[in-house]
Amino acid sequence: MFMDRKAALERIKRMSHWVGWDVGLILVACVLTVLLGMRFDLVEKFYDFTRSHDDWQLDEFALVFITLSVGGLFLSVRRYVQMRREFLRRVRAEEKMEYLALNDSLTGLPNRRAFIQRLENHLANPRGKQCAIVMIDLDRFKPVNDLYGHDTGDRLLQVISQRLEAEVRDDEILARLGGDEFAAMICYVPGDERLERVLTRMVRAAEDRVEIDRVVCRIGTSIGVTVLPAGSQATSSQLLKQADLALYNAKRTGRGRHVYFDDEMNEKAEARSGLEIDLREAIRSGQIEPYYQPLIDLTDGSIEGYEVLARWQHPKHGLVEPERFIPIAEDTGLINELTRALLRTVCEEARTWSDGLFASINISPVQLRNENIVDDILTILGEFGLPASLIEVEITENALIEDIDMATTVLNRMANEGIRLALDDFGTGYASLNHLRSLPFTKLKIDKSFILSMQESEESRKIVNSVLSLSKSLGLTSIAEGVETREVADWLKDAGCGQAQGFYFGRPDPHVLNSILEASANNNVGQLKTLAVKGKAEDKAPPLKNGTSDT
Ligand code: C2E
Ligand code: CA
Ligand code: CA
Repeated sequence: MFMDRKAALERIKRMSHWVGWDVGLILVACVLTVLLGMRFDLVEKFYDFTRSHDDWQLDEFALVFITLSVGGLFLSVRRYVQMRREFLRRVRAEEKMEYLALNDSLTGLPNRRAFIQRLENHLANPRGKQCAIVMIDLDRFKPVNDLYGHDTGDRLLQVISQRLEAEVRDDEILARLGGDEFAAMICYVPGDERLERVLTRMVRAAEDRVEIDRVVCRIGTSIGVTVLPAGSQATSSQLLKQADLALYNAKRTGRGRHVYFDDEMNEKAEARSGLEIDLREAIRSGQIEPYYQPLIDLTDGSIEGYEVLARWQHPKHGLVEPERFIPIAEDTGLINELTRALLRTVCEEARTWSDGLFASINISPVQLRNENIVDDILTILGEFGLPASLIEVEITENALIEDIDMATTVLNRMANEGIRLALDDFGTGYASLNHLRSLPFTKLKIDKSFILSMQESEESRKIVNSVLSLSKSLGLTSIAEGVETREVADWLKDAGCGQAQGFYFGRPDPHVLNSILEASANNNVGQLKTLAVKGKAEDKAPPLKNGTSDT
């Protein structure tokens, strides 16, 4: 289609030259006639001839002939000017279409088609150059668009594209693929640091503040890179897929960074697509089941509730960890169905729990994008005749960043219905203190990375101490996850931490009773009353011991 248009353009240009030639030839013929006439006194000879043949009326014929010739010449020139004007108009229109076909109208950058053409040209004729294919995807762009409108979003894209373009040389290319997605082809010399420097600067360029009509926007970018060694046989679509996989990894591993493609990513992607196919069926047939990890009140060692952690009993691959299948459920839109299935099993189980115990369930950031999650939880609780106070919802800090307005609506509704809210993995994300103050959280969950490193790291102990005082001053309950030793449990208790969970108290287990027995066997749980699972635990729990053991 594009080649047809290009060929047509050439034809039109050629035709415009031919018409020019025609008129030129006529003019040359006229000039030659006049010159020849002067050279050989043709006018005088013709005059003598007409005088000698007066009865032929030749002078009148000559007059008619000259008038017609001059008129014809005039019409030809006029027609030529009109045609040339028309040709040029069409040429310009074609050139504009060609530009639009290859460029993005918002940023003026080359578009996806131009990028792929350029990549394919490079693959066909690398001229010894080595290139890296770079996929760039902006982080947190959608909230800007939603919050301040598309005009602001568009201007932001223009600013960012100019900044990114400044990092790219003339012999390289930066293209906008669509939305907030860009791609670049950067040349590099192995061993030279330039590629690394360009990528780092691109990440920084996107992170720097942008002010549009007094609105300050702060976004970021994640970048996936695949390098193309000289002599590589890879096709353009393979390279784009590799850079995309690297980008996916950059997004999954914290954003605001660049990640290089490696072969392991391909293997993981293949394994992932296998799981993706199986997941829907797994949810329906009950292969995804809740494991329960006790949440301990540090003041008296009693069990307050359980965190519900999903596990997949895969018929072929055995036990699959949530870190492998939750992201798939999020990306494929199955996460709500998965949460509903888990919650039903939890409710079934919770009917046998003694009063006051609660189940803490994890909700993914994507689930805060609409209010259905609140209705889902309430409907299922209703089906089992259970109160909203049975449920605590754990939300990671980053979930708030994605779309703070919607998240606020959903969280306020949950709180109004009596569902408690905990801020999970605190310290690893971007939640601002303002979120903590303005959103209805009742609990702060200190991320296990700080707790696990507390014994070796003074820094971690300082961070934990400050989170504890922050949570105290905001009137929130604090809970530490990842408590693996008695020393850490004691330290946290002395520092005023309210609750804890971790392998020291009990590992996640599919049977609540087992986790209770494990906790009490370790003598980490002080009061038998909280061990009670109606009619079950009292007779099974072993007597409490005074000694302690670190598991
Ligand atoms: P999370 O919410 O931070 O869950 C705590 C993780 O720490 C769990 O990993 C738990 O097994 C682990 N853990 C608990 N105590 C200790 C300890 O003493 N030491 C160490 N090293 N680890 C400990 P798990 O079960 O693999 O879950 C991983 C993540 O998967 C969870 O992190 C949560 O973000 C996500 N997840 C699990 N179930 C669900 C679910 O049903 N829905 C959603 N959206 N996410 C889930
Ligand atoms: Ca959690
Ligand atoms: Ca956590």
